[in-house]
Amino acid sequence: MGILLSRIRRQIELNGPMSVAEYMALCLLDPEHGYYTNAEPFGVGGDFTTAPEISQLFGEIIGAWLINAWHALGKPEPFTLAEAGPGRGTLMRDILRTAAIDPAFKNAANPTLIEASQKLRTNQAETLATEAARTVWLDDFDQLPEQALLLVTNEFFDALPIRQFIHHKGRWMERCIGLNDHEALRWQVGTQRITAQELPRGATENEEEGAITEIAPARESVMAKIANHVAKHGGAAINIDYGHAKSGLGDTLQAMQKHEFVDPLIAPGQVDLTSHVDFEALTRVAMLEGAYAFPIKTQGDFLIQCGLLERAGRLGAGKSVKVQDQITADVQRLAGDGDKDMGNLFKVFCVTQKSSTALPPFGS
Ligand code: SAH
Repeated sequence: MGILLSRIRRQIELNGPMSVAEYMALCLLDPEHGYYTNAEPFGVGGDFTTAPEISQLFGEIIGAWLINAWHALGKPEPFTLAEAGPGRGTLMRDILRTAAIDPAFKNAANPTLIEASQKLRTNQAETLATEAARTVWLDDFDQLPEQALLLVTNEFFDALPIRQFIHHKGRWMERCIGLNDHEALRWQVGTQRITAQELPRGATENEEEGAITEIAPARESVMAKIANHVAKHGGAAINIDYGHAKSGLGDTLQAMQKHEFVDPLIAPGQVDLTSHVDFEALTRVAMLEGAYAFPIKTQGDFLIQCGLLERAGRLGAGKSVKVQDQITADVQRLAGDGDKDMGNLFKVFCVTQKSSTALPPFGS
């Protein structure tokens, strides 16, 4: 307990205030004390619940979407069926189970997981059970084989580090983490001035004192690799995450512990740390790499247009009232627009090789 905090303190004492990007990278993926390298993040007993952990319906819809996409793209064979940041491996398990309805798809697919945490790789292999034998684990997108790619990510981009800038005395400065008189972590304005070119769209040179804005070079570099691969070798990438369609101002860094929001500085390495994804920035990156990015859809619209209600009806048919009520509650959580629901907050962002290929419900 607290080993990462002592290390961060020492580093700040030696090198001065730490950027948010450096802090996030240490908290999440420090090889010894990082959150994803150690903790049990997922599910009721963990810190947060993701869509594939809520219901098998989510993975089945994504699986059916991937099969349709494969047909629409001319059935490339073989192809890489990849997921990045697969957590417990539940989504890929449900996708591969769904793939049994189309043996040609399943045979042509090389299941591939891009995962940084060794501990989670072990969990993923357990979840995939017999499918683990033909699954390949990669460290990075650079290692993807030169063949068509169907990629899915769920709550992956939100976990990649961001930089934050704060408007102070008429200038944008790096927002950093320093130490107070009692050696506790605290927010601090860094010494590095931010140039106009580094600002995200929607942030101007004339904002109020204390205004905050964010950029995510780590996310953009991942999106560039994905888009470049899809542009060169064909395929599509479907990315699901919370975020906004337009770049702008605001502090979206958040920490979660036991399903509650907590102070991001309170317990480095012991709480989940994420931020909202700027889909406008990712769209620009994808287009620059020569790929095509469809306008984003809300998760609610995407799931309903892909037949969530029909699928839920079939899953509930002939089951007890209790099971049917649970399915109804899960559908509401995944696609509804209430405060605790994911339907509006979460967005689906699809990148493909060409705009001319309609991949329903995108571009149709
Ligand atoms: N997709 C899962 C888990 C989301 S949590 C779900 O929906 O349940 C984020 C996942 O991304 C974890 O598996 C984490 O270990 C992984 N991850 C975070 N940063 C990564 C990086 N830079 N490279 C590869 N995987 C990463």
